[in-house]
This record gives sequence, structure tokens and C-alpha cells, in this order.
Amino acid sequence: MAMPETTAHKKYVSQFPMMGTVISITLFTPNQSIIEQIYDYLQQMDQVFSMNRPDSELNAINQQAGVRPVKVSPTCFNLIAASLAYSKQHADSFNVLIGPLVKLWKIGFGGQQVPAQAEITARLKLMQLDQVDLQAHDHSVFLKQPGMQIDLGAIAKGYFADQIVEQLRQAGVTSAIVNLGGNVKLLGQHPYTEDHRWEVGIQAPTAPRGLPLVQVQMPARTVVTSGIFERYFKVGNQMYHHILDPRTGYPVENQVDQVTIITGQSELAEVLTTVCYFQGAQRGSELIETLPDTEAIFVDHQQHVVVTSGLTPRRKGVFLIE
Ligand code: ADP
Ligand code: MG
Repeated sequence: MAMPETTAHKKYVSQFPMMGTVISITLFTPNQSIIEQIYDYLQQMDQVFSMNRPDSELNAINQQAGVRPVKVSPTCFNLIAASLAYSKQHADSFNVLIGPLVKLWKIGFGGQQVPAQAEITARLKLMQLDQVDLQAHDHSVFLKQPGMQIDLGAIAKGYFADQIVEQLRQAGVTSAIVNLGGNVKLLGQHPYTEDHRWEVGIQAPTAPRGLPLVQVQMPARTVVTSGIFERYFKVGNQMYHHILDPRTGYPVENQVDQVTIITGQSELAEVLTTVCYFQGAQRGSELIETLPDTEAIFVDHQQHVVVTSGLTPRRKGVFLIE
């Protein structure tokens, strides 16, 4: 719903470039101390989970693959344990051991050619979920084969979004928008709309920014999109994008351009975008219909949009979640 921009409708946006993206927190009453707390929290998380810092806990685990178990912080241990459980649950699609393949393809990181089949085959052998030894008593993680690598790229931002919103809530913030490079999580009620719902625009994969394909009016939820135009390269007409199939070692090939999941927990939403990407609009929406308070929006290569049943059409391109 359009709302007039009056001076009473103030918002306070803080942005910081971090974790390879731009993190943005929108508040409706100023609160510098919580913003600083969140900034410090994200700095800490970067030290734990960064792939670029050689001394991060995650890199220590990966570097010691095939050598020895590594004791890590409870935070690190718990996110890895959760990611591994999701991987076992969705073994055909979501696999947190995808690291060796991601490093081989280098999609979005300067990779511009298709790796040799023999190399892909070799890396597929490093993605076996039963080759991870987790010890809860000392928070240690052991990747048993040399060369194995955990990659939390498909889930970490969701986890951080959940944690940030929880910190805001505990600090007494009643309304906020947390945006981690396209992973959005809302807190509380919109302070200025009549029905207190939020309106989130979902960008068409190839359209210019600011021209949403679909808009959704909703209570506080998380909105997570995964698509193939974020990172890719082309050889002739063949497109190679960053969602890799753990069965074949190649980017998934199907009709889907992007999947958006709207639900309560951002970590779960991240997993579901990947799983639904693999399943496509038909099977993916069947899965989503079985989950409470969870919706999905699929966009295919022809920009055809499929939505699940909890999204009520209001007018062209605008949906409502009760
Ligand atoms: P982003 O929000 O950065 O676009 P996504 O949530 O779409 O990220 O996840 C893509 C990233 O997840 C890839 O860059 C890679 O690191 C990792 N990844 C790729 N394929 C898989 C997969 N099948 N299972 C788990 N993680 C994957
Ligand atoms: Mg994801």
C-alpha cells in the first residue's frame, strides 16, 4: 500500500559492506547502540565463518580435513550441525559439503570455463555426508577425507538474519527491516501502514533494480530469494550458474530462474530456496504446501510466476499474506 512520505514517517537506515554483500538495518526510532552491537556481532561472525580469512574457524576445519578434528565455538558447531542435518534431509539438492565443487567452478569468482569431467568426478567423492564426525561434547568437527570442505554460502546469511532480529527484539526494538544482500527479515509491525503489514517487492531476475515483478503484503516474516542470475558465466549460449547439483557436479539445469521463500525462520528459508530451486515450481510448491506458514514464489525462464496458496492475489502483481 502506498503511504505518503511525511516527515512523521521517519526511518533510520544503517548500511555496512560486509561478508561480500551490503548489510542494511532499517529502524523507525533511532538506536545507535543496537546498531553498533550488531556491527560488532557481524565482525565476530566474520571471524568465525569467513572463507577469506585463513584464520577463521571454518577455514581451520577445512584445512585440517583428513588430518584431525578441530574444536570450534558452539556457534560454529551448531550451524554446521544444523546444515549437515538439512543436507541429510535433502540429500539430492542441499549439500553443505559442496565446497570442493564451488572452489573448482569458481563461479562468480573469476571462473570462466567448465572444469574437466575427471576433476568434477574426483570432487564429487569429497561430498559424502557420513564422512563428517561431529562431537558435541567438545564442539569438534572432523572432515575425514583430505580435500573435503564445508561451504555455508547457502545458509549462513539466513542464520545471521535470525540472530540479528533476535538481538533487535531483545533490545526492545519493535519494528525493523534487516536486509543481508537480498535476504530480508522483518521484525514486528510496520509502524506507518494502515494494517501494519509490510510490503516486500520481489525483483524480476533480469529487470533493473526498483522494478519489482511481484509485491507481497505480509506480517513480519523473512523473504529469501535464490536465483541463477546472481553469479554465473556463459560459454556461447550455455549458462553456468552458482547452484550446483551435488549428484552431477554441474549447475542445475531446469526451467527455474529464481525461487523466493516467505516463512518465519530465515535459516530454514535459505535451505528451502535451494531445495525448491532443484524441485521446480510443480514439486517445489507441493513441498511448500505441506509446511505451516510457509509460501513460495517461483519465476521461470519466461518470467512466468507460480505462487503457493497462502498468497492471496489483491491486484495485478500484488499478493497478501494474512
Ligand atoms: P546467494 O544468496 O549468495 O546467492 P544462495 O543462498 O543462492 O546464495 O546459495 C548459493 C551458494 O551456496 C553458492 O555460492 C555456494 O557457495 C553454495 N551452494 C551451491 N550449490 C549448493 C548446494 N547444492 N547445496 C548447498 N550449498 C550450495
Ligand atoms: Mg540460499
